[in-house]
Amino acid sequence: MTTALTGLTAVVTGGASGIGLATAGLLAEQGADVAVLDRDLSGLPAPLRGFTADVTDDRAVRAAVEGAAEAFGGIDILVNNAGIGAAGTVEDNTDEEWHRVLDVNVLGVVRTTRAALPYLRRSSAASVVNVCSIAATAGLPRRALYSAGKGAVLSLTLAMAADHVREGVRVNCVNPGTVDTPWVGRLLDAADDPVAERAALEGRQPTGRLVSAREVAAAVVYLASPAAGSTTGTALAVDGGMAGLRLRPE
Ligand code: NAD
Repeated sequence: MTTALTGLTAVVTGGASGIGLATAGLLAEQGADVAVLDRDLSGLPAPLRGFTADVTDDRAVRAAVEGAAEAFGGIDILVNNAGIGAAGTVEDNTDEEWHRVLDVNVLGVVRTTRAALPYLRRSSAASVVNVCSIAATAGLPRRALYSAGKGAVLSLTLAMAADHVREGVRVNCVNPGTVDTPWVGRLLDAADDPVAERAALEGRQPTGRLVSAREVAAAVVYLASPAAGSTTGTALAVDGGMAGLRLRPE
């Protein structure tokens, strides 16, 4: 069957869990050949092809991206999704924590994009989608480091879109709210009262529920697909209305 992405090749970082896994699965359903680049491939189902790499290791990223391009004959779509969390105010996180988190969440995007660009330039349907966050713009409490990193990813998205538009490479990002993934599961497990914490997270979103990984994946796949051929330099919110709506108490 020919679907929207038949004949295209995608690389998804952090594609072995959560949003990345849902995105890799949906890209494959739409007909793309999908390579998952992750530091831990233990959860990866067939038919997704895995390449082990930590996005903080430039040499490993280059080798994985080249391996994916060789295996599939090029790269058309790059999804920069690998990321880690960080809680705290500016007084809470050490310099070491700042370096470690920004190394993954910001420089990880830079390294993978740098490695993929030579292949993307040769594609007639080239697209980069960065998985950013509502934290880039929302002013969330106790998320100083995480928010700064995602703010950088948002700015990078715009800058890269400008730099590469004339080369035929589109660059966009999605800004999810709180998404029901293993990451959020770990946060809830660590809470004093996981049920109350989950209710608080759900209540923060105007829709009254968490976003599903599949909903974020659908937005990523749209931006990555030729159907979004005139869309570049944008951020698409998938956040249950968190960024845009100001609900009054009923
Ligand atoms: P997750 O923990 O379920 O999955 C993250 C994946 O990234 C894992 O497979 C992990 O092995 C991989 N990874 C982490 N660090 C890596 C590294 N250094 N090198 C290679 N792979 C690495 O998380 P998730 O909830 O699916 O989050 C994915 C992305 O979505 C992150 O960038 C996160 O900031 C963003 N995001 C998540 C939420 C949410 O509520 N879950 C909200 C907004 C944005």
